[in-house]
Amino acid sequence: MTTLLPTLGKNLSALPLFPQPAAPAGLPAIEWIERRTPLLGAGPLPGEDAILSVNIAQGCAHRCAFCSTRARSMYAGDDVIHLYRDTPEKLAVELRACRQLPRAVYVSPATDPFMPLAEVQQEAARVVEVLAEHGVEAWLPTRGLIRPSVLSVLERYRQRVKVIVGLTTVNRQLQRALEPLTAPPRLRLRQIARLHELGVRVQVETAPLIPGLTDQRANLSAVLEALASVGVGQVTAGYLFLRPAIRDHLLPVLTEWGMDETVLAEFADGPLLNCDGLGAARLLPKARRQRGYATVMALAVKHGISVKVCGLTNPDFGGPLPKSMAAVAPRPALLW
Ligand code: SF4
Repeated sequence: MTTLLPTLGKNLSALPLFPQPAAPAGLPAIEWIERRTPLLGAGPLPGEDAILSVNIAQGCAHRCAFCSTRARSMYAGDDVIHLYRDTPEKLAVELRACRQLPRAVYVSPATDPFMPLAEVQQEAARVVEVLAEHGVEAWLPTRGLIRPSVLSVLERYRQRVKVIVGLTTVNRQLQRALEPLTAPPRLRLRQIARLHELGVRVQVETAPLIPGLTDQRANLSAVLEALASVGVGQVTAGYLFLRPAIRDHLLPVLTEWGMDETVLAEFADGPLLNCDGLGAARLLPKARRQRGYATVMALAVKHGISVKVCGLTNPDFGGPLPKSMAAVAPRPALLW
């Protein structure tokens, strides 16, 4: 049942009306597993053949409600992380056998290399070392907090490292509801500043934006102001897409915030696209996304920030769709 959304004021952390999220359960256990397939796979960017990916684990400790990895049928649940054994050693073997080395490798796009588990972060650091020693860049998407020992590795190889930080709100209560075990926004901002100090490249993604919730002007303004204060000059923006399991994970959070009907209604007329071979995903209507990005850009200008629109989640912008992202016939029952 939708209730009135409390107005997002300028000082978001001061608002008393937001529901208190339940304390998140404990961290998952780690199980080491053997990998049976090659490590290096296609990267997430269509048409970028020189950018590959390697996953160091299956599962993620952060438990984001909007996560597409948690929505996969093979997802083992929130209580266990399957960490691949000997990833750095096997990666070195694969790289030595490459006729042409990749320019960059995403580490590790189906999970978070800096989730709050020391073993995972250490494996990520060892992978960075192997890639750097082969002259290959490591691109590391994260919502986590990087341990000091791992930060030292990133600093040592800073010429070949890029950390991609996701941040869609600086409201601690909202962040805890959407991303229960990720690093608090304050610490993510401090980490961005530290990475800048160390000379490590940082890319910031304000994604996935949730229409009517994290794309409200007050929320965006607070995020952009905070990012500008730590020296960020460009962000990449992208909207949420829905699959049935993503919707199921998000619904309790949206309901708690009185936003369930509002958010789902935004997607009602959106296109269905095969985005990554995992079945149809429902995007927001194109015009709604265009309006939203225009708002982000207008707000960002005030803070001296430029905005790129995420190509991956907006495959219908600018030109015909790649074959791998074909539109599928509308079947509303597919998603709800
Ligand atoms: S940090 Fe990324 S991989 Fe981990 S739960 Fe959140 S969205 Fe999923």
